[in-house]
Amino acid sequence: MATLEIIDLHVAIEGKEILKGVDLTLNTNEIHAIMGPNGAGKSTLAAAIMGNPAYEVTQGQVLLDGQDVLEMEVDERARAGLFLAVQYPSEIPGVTNASFLRAAMNARRAEDDKIGVRQFMQKLDEKMALLEMPEEMALRYLNEGFSGGEKKRNEILQCLMIEPTFALLDEIDSGLDIDALQIVARGVNALRGEQFGSLIITHYQRLLNYIQPDIVHIMMDGRIAFSGGPELAKQLEAEGYKGLATTEKEG
Ligand code: ADP
Ligand code: MG
Ligand code: MG
Repeated sequence: MATLEIIDLHVAIEGKEILKGVDLTLNTNEIHAIMGPNGAGKSTLAAAIMGNPAYEVTQGQVLLDGQDVLEMEVDERARAGLFLAVQYPSEIPGVTNASFLRAAMNARRAEDDKIGVRQFMQKLDEKMALLEMPEEMALRYLNEGFSGGEKKRNEILQCLMIEPTFALLDEIDSGLDIDALQIVARGVNALRGEQFGSLIITHYQRLLNYIQPDIVHIMMDGRIAFSGGPELAKQLEAEGYKGLATTEKEG
């Protein structure tokens, strides 16, 4: 089992405090959902964990099996097993999807354990079939001209290929129709297991009908205001954030 511990994390952007003390422990074999209104700091949490330089950690710790993540360079974090699916994936012209994926997978492997072309192609075919992606998408430049839904699917493809220990999935459901949502959920569910944990950031309960979270956190104003089981997401859907704000913090 691996553990990602976030302890009293404070993060500022351009001198303004956005995260005001976040505590959260994620284990492998668990899926946690983070919900919360726009601007609550959900993406900030993911970006700070991955080491985006625009986000200044002013206090607190992030530990991956006791190792200080905040001391690591960004690429070290990825090699250590952290993965971030961003809200707005960027386009990288000139780099094909397949070559990007193979490089990302090999970055996590030892010199004598690099993945060969055949093995890579076999795995890629399998994962793309799972996500119902046309084969030609492997040869297109990374995210270039991809629709919103294709970009989201491609983020999950990366996750399936790289097999991180912990995946932070930021709004992988935004802009998806119901079919695409189910496909993306299928990909995440395929990753579930002893070697994998995930933090799913979403605005909507809808995604959580397809990816059953073990724990739901509600972030408000830079803090985790509530944590509970999957029923918390349903309560939120029914009552809205204002409704929740009048109930006691659960845990
Ligand atoms: P969420 O993902 O919960 O919608 P964010 O983490 O994106 O929230 O944003 C939290 C707050 O930080 C918001 O008030 C937002 O305007 C601010 N913020 C986010 N990114 C930046 C940035 N690059 N520069 C300045 N302010 C930012
Ligand atoms: Mg937002
Ligand atoms: Mg966000």
